[in-house]
Amino acid sequence: MFSFQHPVQIHFGQGVFSELNNTLSSYDFSSYVIVMSNSQIKNGLHRLVESQLGEKIKDVVTNIEPNPTLDNVQRIVNVMEQHEADCVIAIGGGSTMDAAKAACAVYLQSIDINHLLEHEDFSHALPLIAIPTTSGSASEVTPVSVLNDKSNGLKVPLTGPGLYPTAAIVDPELTLTCPPGITATSGIDVLCHALDCLGSVNKNPVSDAIAISAAKLAFENLEHAYHEPMNIEARENMALASMMAGMAFSQTGTSAAHAFSYYLTSNYDVPHGEACAFTMDAWYVVNANLDSRLDEHAKMIGFSDAEALSERFNNIKKELGLALTFDDLDIDRSDVETIVGRGLEAQNMKNNIAQPDKEEVLQFLSVK
Ligand SMILES: [Zn+2]
Repeated sequence: MFSFQHPVQIHFGQGVFSELNNTLSSYDFSSYVIVMSNSQIKNGLHRLVESQLGEKIKDVVTNIEPNPTLDNVQRIVNVMEQHEADCVIAIGGGSTMDAAKAACAVYLQSIDINHLLEHEDFSHALPLIAIPTTSGSASEVTPVSVLNDKSNGLKVPLTGPGLYPTAAIVDPELTLTCPPGITATSGIDVLCHALDCLGSVNKNPVSDAIAISAAKLAFENLEHAYHEPMNIEARENMALASMMAGMAFSQTGTSAAHAFSYYLTSNYDVPHGEACAFTMDAWYVVNANLDSRLDEHAKMIGFSDAEALSERFNNIKKELGLALTFDDLDIDRSDVETIVGRGLEAQNMKNNIAQPDKEEVLQFLSVK
């Protein structure tokens, strides 16, 4: 038995951003607060938005940190309160969208910002239009907002149906300016979302079908997008893969590779996608050893079996210049036990098919 619900209206395609005013006219919003990443301000995207929406824009909030903080969220809420806009438009990568999502919930529910990270009811929030400028986080189609708890440096995922954006406007042309380093770390995250879904105990035939298609697209296009930034076909396929992987993990949650990434990111500043990719290839094989469906999925993606998929994943990491070993990450061997312990404790580890103990994880990670 399973259920599947996806409430985000998706507008996808090259040039859809330049039709923003038209697209939004069906939603009947009268005023907007824009939350935009600094890189998109530099790219002049705010001028394009202003030319489309004119006086309906009440204010533009910028300077959202890569791991968004409660201060970032509060700053957006302050601007929303000042203008009483009826919709927020987030334009940027995962951090920008995540901060805006949290702000929409805080604003509508009057949540005390100091207790946001313990708050559990994210059933409703002010409408948000999400416009991604990177292919990776898929925040535009998920009910998740990941914030940074500055008090202990940990990332805290907030989840609830209210955190689904009202609409996602996904224009692959917006990703053409994404620099290679971010294309690499966010693009490998797309693969980690799709493969974590396939390795999840919450998987179902619909999430599997979407995750398999997303993984196939990402395996075929990520290196092209990295080496040929202006290759619009590769960019479009990565934007599609990202969105589809997001739809899949909205249903299943992420599993072991993500569970093992959080501590690497919060303690060692490893970018999210690179941190997930660090153990992803190993987990796919470990899960396939317990559930033969993962070998079947690997075949559908285009490989002979799970081992071959894992090997190709490892080669992509090399090709993109991502870390393969703890030495590459400058992490002392004496820290590895703690890292493994924190990974096993992470909430989404429960979603994973394989449930190895610390010794077993240490064993298969050291083999790498
Ligand atoms: Zn991720």
